[in-house]
Amino acid sequence: MTLAIMSALLDEQRGLLEQLSQPRRVQRAGRTFWCGQWAEQDVVLVLSKVGKVAAATTTTTLIEAFDVKRVVFTGVAGGVGQSVNVGDVVVAQAFIQHDMDSSPLFARYEIPLYGRDTLACDEPLSALLLEATHTGIKSARGHFHHENSVQDQRVHQGLIASGDQFVASAQGAAALVSGLKQAGHAPLAVEMEGAAVAQVCHDYGIPFAAVRTISDRADAQAHVDFSAFVQQVASPYALSIMREFIKLV
Ligand code: SAH
Repeated sequence: MTLAIMSALLDEQRGLLEQLSQPRRVQRAGRTFWCGQWAEQDVVLVLSKVGKVAAATTTTTLIEAFDVKRVVFTGVAGGVGQSVNVGDVVVAQAFIQHDMDSSPLFARYEIPLYGRDTLACDEPLSALLLEATHTGIKSARGHFHHENSVQDQRVHQGLIASGDQFVASAQGAAALVSGLKQAGHAPLAVEMEGAAVAQVCHDYGIPFAAVRTISDRADAQAHVDFSAFVQQVASPYALSIMREFIKLV
């Protein structure tokens, strides 16, 4: 039951690779897949690259060429939900593509020919990821006790919106949220890969779960906050959470 652990960026993955015993490097589709064992589990680590198409290609390759049976994504995202702040962690319940629009042929946000706009994550796997997140951030917090911003860090669970856009203005984020709200959706975070991974996993019937640490608020500060966060905080959090997760799956 091989588990894939995906991230978009090298900074989100750093530290995970060192956990693999006897890592084997396989090049495929322009990506580097690291196969090995972690806590007696068969694991494949890979960077999806950025954006929905890149993430879909990576996920398809994981399933078709590496016989992966479960997929988990760990990365960063912009917080757009009220009270979803930098340093908080969001475990995905479902994904939506905020840039999907085939109206008037299909309802806004509906994935054509799927008859739905959201894709749910696997419930049992997400429950384990939520548990791992609660435990994992407690140990990670030890590293950052001097930082006020992570003192009252919260764990959320809910909808994440994906699209091929780095959301970097308060106005852009507000427009995105209000559009989704009109369709009855309240996203907690925005990123660029999750919905694509969810769709491929849905097509293959592969359980998928995702966790995103909030690196920015998708506003004019986003690019500054994002860069600092991925360098300093993202990978220790990813590692702490995954270290707990691997014990549970
Ligand atoms: N290659 C660049 C660009 C990264 S794009 C770099 O390394 O600096 C941002 C990445 O973080 C994407 O993978 C996306 O999933 C996530 N992300 C974080 N904040 C985001 C935001 N405000 N809007 C969209 N994606 C965001």
